[in-house]
This record gives sequence, C-alpha cells and structure tokens, in this order.
Amino acid sequence: MVQRLKAVFWDVDGTLAETEMAGHRLAFNRALAEAGLPWQWDLPTYRQLLRVAGGRERLRAFLTEVEGAVPAGTRLDQLQARKQLHYQELVMSGGLTLRAGVVRLIAELAEAGIPQAIVTTSGRTAVAALLEACLGDLQGTFSFWVCGEDVARKKPHPEAYRLAIQRVQVDSSQIVVLEDSAQGLGAAAAAGLSTLVTLSQVSATEPAQQFETARALLDGLGEAAEPASVLRGPACPEAMVTLSYLEAVLAAAPATGATEP
Ligand SMILES: [Mg+2]
Repeated sequence: MVQRLKAVFWDVDGTLAETEMAGHRLAFNRALAEAGLPWQWDLPTYRQLLRVAGGRERLRAFLTEVEGAVPAGTRLDQLQARKQLHYQELVMSGGLTLRAGVVRLIAELAEAGIPQAIVTTSGRTAVAALLEACLGDLQGTFSFWVCGEDVARKKPHPEAYRLAIQRVQVDSSQIVVLEDSAQGLGAAAAAGLSTLVTLSQVSATEPAQQFETARALLDGLGEAAEPASVLRGPACPEAMVTLSYLEAVLAAAPATGATEP
C-alpha cells in the first residue's frame, strides 16, 4: 500500500494529557485564592468555563460575569501570569501523566519517519513544562510547536493549523490531526484537515453531534492494557490507534454527518 500519511499534528490539552481538570483548573484556583478572590472553580463550573477558549479569555469572561464589569487588562495579566506559574509547578512536580497510547503512538510514528508537530493555542511555557515532565527525550520528536503566542486567534479559529500546514510543507490531504475537543476539531476542519478525535474527560460529556466532522471518533488512543473503542469511523481491530489506523482514517471518505447513524 502506498503510504499516504505524511505528517501528524498533535493538540496538547486533553489530547496528550488530561490537563484541564487536574492541571489548569487547580492552577486557576491557586491564582484566585492567592489574589484574595472569593471564588474557586469546581468541576461543573470549570466544565462550563471551558467553552471559552484560552486561559486569559476564560478569566476575563468569569470575572466580567461575577463582578459585573470587565476587569482591567493589567489585573488579568497578573492573574494569568500567576496561574501559569502554578501550572508549571503542578506539572513539574509530576501532577499530570500522559494519556494511554500517547507515548506508544509518538514512538511508532517517529520510528516510521513521519513528521509530528504540536499545534495548540495554549501558552508555550505550559506546553514546555508538560513535554519536559512527561515526554523526556521523546519531546525532540516534534519538528515544531505552534503555540498561543504564534497566533492572533485561538482555536476554533483555524489560524494555528494554517500556520502548521505552511511550516510542515506537506499537502493538507496527507496530514492527520489528533484532537480531543469540538473547538480543536472545528479549527482543524476549517483548515481542511482530517481529524481523529480522542475524547477526553471533558469532551466525553459533550453531545456526539459536535464531532460530526471528525473522520474518526474514539474514546482514546488505546494500548494493550487500555483498549480504545471506535464510536465512529474506520474499524480498529487492534483496539489502538497505530500508523496503519491513521492511514485508514485518511483513506476514509470525508464525513458529512448527515448519513451517519
Ligand atoms: Mg484539547
């Protein structure tokens, strides 16, 4: 079979690790408490807040609602800077682990010489902390990172993916994106890319119709001890996402959503 897959783009939050609930949320809470603010974000609250993409934007939306006025930019910057430090500390102290199958798939793609890149609109320091703490030497596998600082508009805007397509210099029809969220899927789809969605703790509770444009929808990448289930898309007899499964995803007919059961 002719190999069609020429590059893989990885989202970070929720795709590489379950960073939101056990990472970013706790870091926001530490920053809020430290600033003497009376709010802490519990799981249901944070689930709602995740509809706002971007940490600073999320803080801004929350404070605007609870205080009844848009917070000053300098105050937001300070809160966000403290939150980022708390997140780095959490990650560096081993507070987060990679999701099942992530290391296995990164290693298999690297072995096969498939270029891989990070495409996120999270901040570079948060990405660096996670990759350093969890991937070790394998972090050198990534050809480049597109992060929040590189774009004017965050996901679901396709800017980050468009930038990544330019950098990787591969035809967009030969790339597979790995994402966990509807926002990420929206960004990749708007950039014309084929996406495999690996549902995370957060996105698994969202309505399945949000993922209609995904070429494949799974509950994880899977590994021997933790097999993946396909919710929609090509069958996966090995119960794990491999290079050959990504080839099958790329070969699958474009999803229309309308004819899916
Ligand atoms: Mg994500």
